[in-house]
Amino acid sequence: MKAIQVVRPGKIDIIEKEKPRITRGDEVLIKVRLVGICGSDMHIYHGTSPVATYPRVIGHEMVGEIVETSSDVTRLAIGDKVVMEPIEWCGECYACKSGRKNVCTQLQVYGVHKDGAYQEYMVLPEKIVHKVESRLDWHEAVLVEPFTIGAQANWRGDVRAGDIVFIMGAGPIGLCALQAAKIKGATCIITDLSDDKLAFARSLGADYVLNPLRDNVNSEIERITDGVGPNVTIDAVCTVKTFEQAVEITSVAGRVVVLGFSESPSAIAQLHITKNELTIVGSRLQSDKFSEVIEWFNSGKIKADSFVTHRFALEDIHQAIELIETHPNEVRKVVLEVGGVQK
Ligand code: MN
Ligand code: ZN
Repeated sequence: MKAIQVVRPGKIDIIEKEKPRITRGDEVLIKVRLVGICGSDMHIYHGTSPVATYPRVIGHEMVGEIVETSSDVTRLAIGDKVVMEPIEWCGECYACKSGRKNVCTQLQVYGVHKDGAYQEYMVLPEKIVHKVESRLDWHEAVLVEPFTIGAQANWRGDVRAGDIVFIMGAGPIGLCALQAAKIKGATCIITDLSDDKLAFARSLGADYVLNPLRDNVNSEIERITDGVGPNVTIDAVCTVKTFEQAVEITSVAGRVVVLGFSESPSAIAQLHITKNELTIVGSRLQSDKFSEVIEWFNSGKIKADSFVTHRFALEDIHQAIELIETHPNEVRKVVLEVGGVQK
């Protein structure tokens, strides 16, 4: 079967690989149908991921169907439409025992530390495979994983009904965090340098959209929040500067959610944190958010049908990458169709 492997940073190839086989009682064989291309996949390709190892079959945003189940599988059946929760954890360490398996000391992420979803078939343990309603379109279901990242950011930021949430960046993660915050009953402000992305954010429910190229973001937010500042700031831009701005702008008793992987330090004064008693939290991957997010999809609370802007065959990965790199503002989510066109 075919797979896409980042051989080493800067080199990505279509390889032939043996089709995986079930070897344990708890496993299922999945025919992969669609995989989303994530910013983190591009980092692995460029050698700028701080965690990936090579060579690596990348991809962690997967939807497929069950084609075989092993003896002990009880929740899943052949024909089920499923998504992958792309992590494995030890269950024993402090994080795992604290309900935070996403930061397990032995964490293994599919497509990062072990081979991921850019391939025709995968064998996975049942516990990380989640069924979605069969009537959900493949092109919507492929977004479940990105939405779990948005749900996690909201959970880490303790977003509550009535909060004003400021989301920096209207890329896929910012938009997923936006919809999750709207479901929780928040008022949302979102920024981006692209007016197209802001218009899309508006269509997804953003209450206020600001473009730093045109708007004075600080004074606009001061006006919108009556001088109080947003209660929660989710930084999905993740630069040295945006982290500083997030800490400076967030309200008393507010929360700042950090999603970046930069190793460069920001300059953060203690005063803002202490005076306003801010909570600054990291948000990585997700912990037990799949059931909640799948429920949002199944019940139609999430509008994901317009996220996918471009589709390529698995074999056309090089064209897909070229498009993402040359037309960043036209691309929302690019997906690879595995094994033929998926309706
Ligand atoms: Mn992703
Ligand atoms: Zn662990």
